Amino acid sequence: MSNGRVAVVIGGASGIGWASANALAADDCRVVVADLNGDGARDRAAELGEPHTAAQVDVTDEASVRQLFEDIGPLDVVVSCAGFGSLGLITDLAVDEFRGVVDVCLTGAFIVAKYAGQKLREGGSLVSISSLNGRQPAVGMSAYCAAKAGLSMLTEVAALEWGPRGIRVNAVAPGFVETPLTAGSSLIPGLVEDYAENTAIGRAGKPEEIADAVVFLASPKSAWLTGEVLDLNGGAHLKKYPDVLGHVMKLAEAR
Ligand code: NAP
Repeated sequence: MSNGRVAVVIGGASGIGWASANALAADDCRVVVADLNGDGARDRAAELGEPHTAAQVDVTDEASVRQLFEDIGPLDVVVSCAGFGSLGLITDLAVDEFRGVVDVCLTGAFIVAKYAGQKLREGGSLVSISSLNGRQPAVGMSAYCAAKAGLSMLTEVAALEWGPRGIRVNAVAPGFVETPLTAGSSLIPGLVEDYAENTAIGRAGKPEEIADAVVFLASPKSAWLTGEVLDLNGGAHLKKYPDVLGHVMKLAEAR
């Protein structure tokens, strides 16, 4: 059963987005699972069962995002989760690769915010998934770091613009979380251990731990909280980001 709150989770077919969709459904929201991977979104919505639904969307395509929000109508919660990174020194990185990451992680987040801001009801909440890399630089991750830093600031600007309308805007900035996106990291010897050492608590995060924060930020229990970018990383923001590119180069040399 749903208590009447309508939520969309964009990037909801996998990882942190899927955990968030699941947790919002458990918190009595009616959830639209939206993703570039339309089949994955349909499978996930079917897993949640009635009254939850699925949609295909590409956050880099304004018409696609506009259509998604028109189809849903007025809503209460938007979780903006689509994103991925790239690896390469600034002097080597193809401009198109830089643009591709920024297009999804920042411009895509802006397009989602634009329509979320039009359709969220009073009392509504936009929660974006930023990253530890929005504040902690990493060698070889210029596009992702710059895009996520931009997303963190976009969150603050939107919170200012929509506060008077009773709409809150926050972000969660996770450290390393085990998801399909990061599955390749476990194939690189020592990298996951380095990520864990970069935390105070000494381990990677789980998607469900990010989803718990998303549920809180989406709910009236956080009614006075807006413009916040929540570090959720086991204390990794207190330390130094691992040398991901160094690990990858070492592996390439060994082969
Ligand atoms: P994930 O498992 O790969 O899930 C991301 C989902 O977003 C995928 O289903 C993906 O679809 C979808 N997506 C990609 N491009 C899209 C687009 N243009 N339009 C709509 N959907 C799109 O990744 P995750 O690890 O859960 O990451 C979710 C978010 O958390 C990302 O923004 C990521 O940057 C952020 N984050 C992750 C970590 C981490 O350690 N995992 C840490 C900090 C921040 P396809 O599979 O079809 O591409």
